[in-house]
Amino acid sequence: MKTIKTDVLIIGGGLTGLTLAYLLKSINIKVKVLEANSTIGGRINTKHNTNQAPIELGATWLIDQQFNALALLKELGISVFKQHYGNTAIYHPNKTQAVQLVELPENNLVSYRVTNGTYSIIKSLSERLSENTITCNQKILTIKLLADDLEASSNDTTYYCKHIVSTLPPLLFSKKIAIEPALPQDFQELLLKTHTWMHNSIRIGFTYKTPFWKSKDTSGTIYSSVGVIQEFYDHSNANSNLYALSGFMSSAFSKNKKEERKKLALKQLQSYYGDQALTFESYEECVWANEKYTTSTSDRFIIPQSNNGHPLFQNTYLDNKLFIAGAETSPVFPGKMEGAITSAQFVFEKLKAIYHN
Ligand SMILES: Cc1cc2nc3c(=O)[nH]c(=O)nc-3n(C[C@H](O)[C@H](O)[C@H](O)COP(=O)(O)OP(=O)(O)OC[C@H]3O[C@@H](n4cnc5c(N)ncnc54)[C@H](O)[C@@H]3O)c2cc1C
Repeated sequence: MKTIKTDVLIIGGGLTGLTLAYLLKSINIKVKVLEANSTIGGRINTKHNTNQAPIELGATWLIDQQFNALALLKELGISVFKQHYGNTAIYHPNKTQAVQLVELPENNLVSYRVTNGTYSIIKSLSERLSENTITCNQKILTIKLLADDLEASSNDTTYYCKHIVSTLPPLLFSKKIAIEPALPQDFQELLLKTHTWMHNSIRIGFTYKTPFWKSKDTSGTIYSSVGVIQEFYDHSNANSNLYALSGFMSSAFSKNKKEERKKLALKQLQSYYGDQALTFESYEECVWANEKYTTSTSDRFIIPQSNNGHPLFQNTYLDNKLFIAGAETSPVFPGKMEGAITSAQFVFEKLKAIYHN
């Protein structure tokens, strides 16, 4: 067993963990980020294939009200561009009604995508951290309160630190990390009843050489309560010279094989756009229910967004040494990128007050 000492230990190398590490570095607090997976990013996952449009398989859209996220992007020098929704959508309301082409109200939706993909945020934050700040393949299994500090253990390393910040989705945190002494009972129950945003969604995308959907009086926007694809959008790149369609497949197909999901999605697209739909370059997907470090099954049904931003997440635990951050803990845009960034900023202010007083 190796031992490593630091001031602040951040568990999880997703948007919350990396934003917090970036902020703490700016005021010279010694910090380490431990990531269980072999790569950082968590629920941010952009797939890049050479000379093809980047495909978002996780977080994708921002809106004007996500002030903290847009401000962080500006600070990092990352630009955004408007999502193209078009004026019409293909709409299939139910099995008894035919597929329709419906008009979308003008300026109905304004949302933005990140130029070069959402993963640019992760890349940019990580590049601003000192060397050796992030360690991947470090799955934290236990946290213990000692007389003066905290101890956290992975399978091969024991960490000693003054403060720990968990950025795991609360339900996952409660199921995967053993805490000693036990957290208060009401907080333990809250963790088990807190919904994780998009934990079981399926994101898929196809890249194409031509945006044939734009030449058929359609825009790529699809809403269907019948097909395997439930929501789809034009996913061409910021320069509009590399083309793609992408969106959400019904989570009911998470147990199918990748090839089956691809075939079913193509069949649906073919029914709308004809054989051109079959001329894709790449198919990409992420079945988030299979991502063991961001999802966690519950024995009960948790209503989407339940307990997100609950006041108990704003408290500190284990002698005020353990902080619980992450997108779901934020009262502002919980579950979203804005929630992740806001929760990092909230914990940063608390740590700054401790270390700089
Ligand atoms: C399909 C999908 C679409 C989305 N779309 C949008 C969108 O359009 N707009 C938007 O704003 N948001 C969207 N989101 C939400 C957004 O992705 C999240 O809000 C944000 O990425 C959460 O960041 P986080 O750091 O709080 O959590 P996470 O990204 O979940 O990070 C937690 C990290 O902890 C790591 N970890 C887990 N267990 C351990 C352990 N024991 N030890 C060490 N590390 C561990 C995980 O591997 C992970 O990297 C979407 C999410 C998904 C899945």
